[in-house]
Amino acid sequence: MTSANLSTDSLYRGEITVVFHGNLTDFFKSPSDSFVTHFQMREKTSLKHIVEALGVPHPEIGKTLVNQKEVNLSYHPIRGDHIHIYPRQIEQAIENKDCPRFILDNHLGKLAAYLRLLGIDTLYNHQYDDDQIAQISAQQNRIVLTRDRGLLKRKVIQHGYCVRQDDPLSQVTEVIHHFQLAPHLKPFSRCPRCNGLLEKVDKQTILDQLLPLTRLYYQDFSRCSHCGQIYWKGSHYDRIKPVIQRFATIQDEEP
Ligand SMILES: [Zn+2]
Repeated sequence: MTSANLSTDSLYRGEITVVFHGNLTDFFKSPSDSFVTHFQMREKTSLKHIVEALGVPHPEIGKTLVNQKEVNLSYHPIRGDHIHIYPRQIEQAIENKDCPRFILDNHLGKLAAYLRLLGIDTLYNHQYDDDQIAQISAQQNRIVLTRDRGLLKRKVIQHGYCVRQDDPLSQVTEVIHHFQLAPHLKPFSRCPRCNGLLEKVDKQTILDQLLPLTRLYYQDFSRCSHCGQIYWKGSHYDRIKPVIQRFATIQDEEP
């Protein structure tokens, strides 16, 4: 190794300052708008590796400035760098853009059912492992939702978000807000079990499949075009109703 190389290498050792902005501070439980931290580099390291070592998964990262110049996550910081990292902006802000599609990690079953009830295309299977989720996300261009930051650190995942809330109904609200889904909601249009599309079905044609009280109290029914499950606006619907009332127009059937 020449002495020139040695001195270049030493630039990649030492302290850098990293400032996280906006909702990226959630990963540090920081009550303010930004969080300042220092990182000791021991060798030439990409910025992706550094931010993830600090606990922030790369799909959440947007604009990144080093000494006021924009860089991407493949940048190799040098000693003394002052780095500002901002959250990724959500691209589908415009109403006529397609609604984003999701794939959910296997601990988010209730959130999956709620998103489907609201008509959002949501892939979920509790048997998917991390590899499958990452691959499907890349192949089908689906956004990964998870509470596992480790999953989001996989390079193959381009679009992903770490769900902050614990409670499923709060998670629905969080996801609708974050991805600006309100204009895309179509309550009661997808099967909470399998993500298939629901179609209206005439009560007379399914009478024999209904329990006596359901037959008595409900008039409007839908059937999943994929798994055949029959739905009416019962308990599932009542649970999600506050969210629907907050974000979408309830499409009541004609009398
Ligand atoms: Zn179904």
